[in-house]
Amino acid sequence: MTYNDQILVVKSSLSWGKIKNKRGAGQPVAAFYCFAVILLGNLLASDYVFVYRLIMKINSFGVVDTAIQRPCTHFDERPNDDDISLLVIHNISLPAGQFATPFVDDLFMGRIDCQAHPSFADLAGLRVSAHCFIKRSGEIVQYVPFSKRAWHAGRSEFLGRNQCNDFSIGIELEGTDTTAYTQNQYNALQSLTKALINKYPAITRSRIVGHCHIAPGRKTDPGDSFDWNHYFAAL
Ligand SMILES: [Zn+2]
Repeated sequence: MTYNDQILVVKSSLSWGKIKNKRGAGQPVAAFYCFAVILLGNLLASDYVFVYRLIMKINSFGVVDTAIQRPCTHFDERPNDDDISLLVIHNISLPAGQFATPFVDDLFMGRIDCQAHPSFADLAGLRVSAHCFIKRSGEIVQYVPFSKRAWHAGRSEFLGRNQCNDFSIGIELEGTDTTAYTQNQYNALQSLTKALINKYPAITRSRIVGHCHIAPGRKTDPGDSFDWNHYFAAL
């Protein structure tokens, strides 16, 4: 085949392709690709992205791979590294009832300005933390690896055992006792709980409690606004 013959073949192929497209034979394929691209875009922009979060992983140090890491200094060693057998759910918002402020992060990072709001006067000198904080958006922020003892429970008791910080994991939901939590928060908490149960099998369903259960009379969170049935239904 000469060079001119090759050109002729290419030209023929191109014109045949044009004819084919004119006749519509190529249109279903193009339409399929367009549909696939639009579908993928919608999936990535929607709550379906939480499908990805279902495969949340926790490493040997107790760090969640999909969480934003904000290592703080409010933690110490657990008396027994192998005893992680309780999950405690809390709520917090600063000021109370106001969301998406920087103050919860400031509190856990040990740099809150107690002059920033009148209600913060009680927080002066307070050194507290939680392993994780779940924002209204469902975003998870991790302050303390699970292998370490976070300071979230305070004076507390579970099944006759005191000092729940020693053997528990504390998760704070951004919220109040009377404001419904968002579905994104339930999704994130459920995914995180599944990953925790997988990593620490001693955390059984009956060993998942609210702060109110281990410090009755002193603490009320996560409050009546937390739907335990809804939460447990997806575990
Ligand atoms: Zn609490």
